[in-house]
Amino acid sequence: MNTPDPAILLKWYDRHARRLPWRVPPARSRKGERADPYHVWLSEVMLQQTTVAAVRPYFQKFLERWPRIHDLAAAELDEVLTVWAGLGYYARARNLHKCATIVVAEHGGLFPDTEDGLRALPGIGPYTAAAIASIAFDCHATPVDGNIERVMSRLYVVETPMPASKTALRELAADLTPASRPGDYVQAVMDLGATVCIPRSPRCAICPWRGSCGAFAIGMTDVLPRRTPKPERPLRRAVAYWMVRGDGAVLLRRRPESGLLGGMMEVPSGPWEEIEIFRDAAPVKADWVELPGLVEHGFTHLRLELKVKAARVDGRSKSDGVWVFVENFDEYALPTLTRKVVRHVLSHVGKGVAPS
Ligand code: SF4
Repeated sequence: MNTPDPAILLKWYDRHARRLPWRVPPARSRKGERADPYHVWLSEVMLQQTTVAAVRPYFQKFLERWPRIHDLAAAELDEVLTVWAGLGYYARARNLHKCATIVVAEHGGLFPDTEDGLRALPGIGPYTAAAIASIAFDCHATPVDGNIERVMSRLYVVETPMPASKTALRELAADLTPASRPGDYVQAVMDLGATVCIPRSPRCAICPWRGSCGAFAIGMTDVLPRRTPKPERPLRRAVAYWMVRGDGAVLLRRRPESGLLGGMMEVPSGPWEEIEIFRDAAPVKADWVELPGLVEHGFTHLRLELKVKAARVDGRSKSDGVWVFVENFDEYALPTLTRKVVRHVLSHVGKGVAPS
């Protein structure tokens, strides 16, 4: 079995690189042109836990609104959270804004060009630092994500299940990274994992590394990488309260800064608890009407079920939040969970916004 040759993969990349708005095409990078570090950083932060297809429109929106890092640093955090809404993991948006202000205030608007320098910034972990260092500055760094782990586990037939094999896969990936064009090479492995060495039924017939792939040689491409089964995510339950004032405005509340959906607006709910039966924790006395069905939402580590109750209330009795008309909800950074609750309510009570 041949050792995988980075030069073969680079040749493939020169012809098949994905065209991405934050990228410099390989032909131009061969002439020494590098991608804009601001674009690379923005895309890499957005791509954490999300797909390229989901990120594209957000990336465009951010660049239209804040073409330079100075513009982003000068923006209000709430504005950034609003444009980010829908991408999830809102702590990343807060860190994004914080990072922009630090890069402008302490680095003159220029990103550090080393992994260590990048890692000192908020929201930039080992993977993102390596990705920015290699793609934006052509450093010899190896970001290793799920795609790259999969490619390595198949090339080298690593049978230890994930996540125990992570360190070994990272070392294999680092050893294979060439001194020449490391930035393009890293993007080439990313592209291979995203378009050819895909999770199910890898497209080995068109793979440039087929001749040096251990899994292909012994017919194990469909079983690698092995994974230790994940434990079931715990299920939490709570009741959300849709409170409507006399003039039709609805009460929204900001969640605590720390914890899930930190600082985001929500339809007020009771504590999210691992309980069998939904616990009523109505914040005010009212003629609550329970809406049929549930709102279900999945976070990385837990699942959530919300029952929704709605009522007309006296607006003066509740000051913990803001009263907003449904047609003005877009002015707030509503996370996906809150949007689900809103859709759920409106599908039951329609424009009346509260049971009559
Ligand atoms: Fe992946 Fe198949 Fe290529 Fe091996 S030959 S790296 S399994 S696509």
